[in-house]
Amino acid sequence: MTLILKGNIISAEKYGELNIIENGYLIANDGIIEGMYQELPKQYENYDIIDYGDKLIMQSFSDMHLHAPQYPMLGMGMDLPLLDWLNTYTFPVEANFKNTDFARKVYKELAQKLIKNGTTRVAMFSSLHKDATLILMEELENAGVTGYVGKVNMDRNGGKDLEETTQESIDETIDWLKKANFKHIKPIITPRFTPSCTNELMETLGKIAKENNLPIQSHLSENTNEIKWVKQLHPDCPEYFDTYQKYGMWNNKTLMAHCVHSSKRELQSMKDNGVYVVHCASSNQNLMSGVAQVKKMVDNGLNVVIGSDIAGGDHMSMFDCVADTIRASKARNILDNWETGFLTVSQAFYLATSAANKFFDELPGFAKGNKLNCLVLDDSKLISATKLSIKERFERCIYNREDGAIVSVYSEGRKVY
Ligand SMILES: [Zn+2]
Repeated sequence: MTLILKGNIISAEKYGELNIIENGYLIANDGIIEGMYQELPKQYENYDIIDYGDKLIMQSFSDMHLHAPQYPMLGMGMDLPLLDWLNTYTFPVEANFKNTDFARKVYKELAQKLIKNGTTRVAMFSSLHKDATLILMEELENAGVTGYVGKVNMDRNGGKDLEETTQESIDETIDWLKKANFKHIKPIITPRFTPSCTNELMETLGKIAKENNLPIQSHLSENTNEIKWVKQLHPDCPEYFDTYQKYGMWNNKTLMAHCVHSSKRELQSMKDNGVYVVHCASSNQNLMSGVAQVKKMVDNGLNVVIGSDIAGGDHMSMFDCVADTIRASKARNILDNWETGFLTVSQAFYLATSAANKFFDELPGFAKGNKLNCLVLDDSKLISATKLSIKERFERCIYNREDGAIVSVYSEGRKVY
């Protein structure tokens, strides 16, 4: 099926540069982008066109780190640092997902909210519960979200209500992988973080990931007390990342959230191995974890993508996460005596869209051959003093949008909103 969208097309083909086609055409065949055109190519003259008029058609977002079972506690416990926040709020809330009816209710709403906010791709943590994880995958699939979901593994330090034995964790993971057969939502191996997993479990998870060619997601160097704790648990490992690398969970299909306090050696190893930094600006500030060197990491050639980190982060909308990322980069610049620079709007937008395309084996922007993931935004209700350029309208919408500004969302060519 051919899909032709007409409007003001905005994409981030290159880091820091926007590709803008005013009143252009974005064409996809069977969900795969054919191209962007200023004039409609002759062969499409007799096709139906979906005309969005003066609206903005832009890449939709990839939220590369968020915790689905924390959705009901969004905005709670924001006066606590990471480890206290986990024990006081997060773990007790996550324990509720043993109840599959509750999981269904929460995950249905979460999946629809993601789409409504223009997030079409995710890398998401579930809880340790296999059944709830399958429900989450199903609800995301039904809503039109694509990407990865992980059943969380934790066989230590979760408290009595949120812990598996090592054998349970392994058996449940294997069973989950057998049952996780969805078209658009795929499994990702998810040790919560080093303090949650024994060496035996880590070793087996590394093997499972390797044997099944599965990606991996976890947390890294988020908080200084967490780093000290990891050091106590792994006296043999000089640094935090060694605890993942040692078990074969350190490659170009690995997503590591935060990396706020990563050392030079840790960052170099991420670069050498193609490991992704998932920068979570809002969460880092809420939990007072620190201010990550987001721009420096990008400038040094690391793979950097963005996560909302719900519910450490408090924004569902990736527009807000992009703005938070820019603010965090500015805070870092100030802390660095104005020496490291800050992210521009188009640079941060690239991180929230195109940078993640690479993880999904695609090219940046609306490249030919990519799946069509886009949103359509109506900013006509916002008042301006002068006639704005498309670029100005785009930059404003990152910070300022009316309710209901997103009028349509396409996920892999399917109209899902
Ligand atoms: Zn997280």
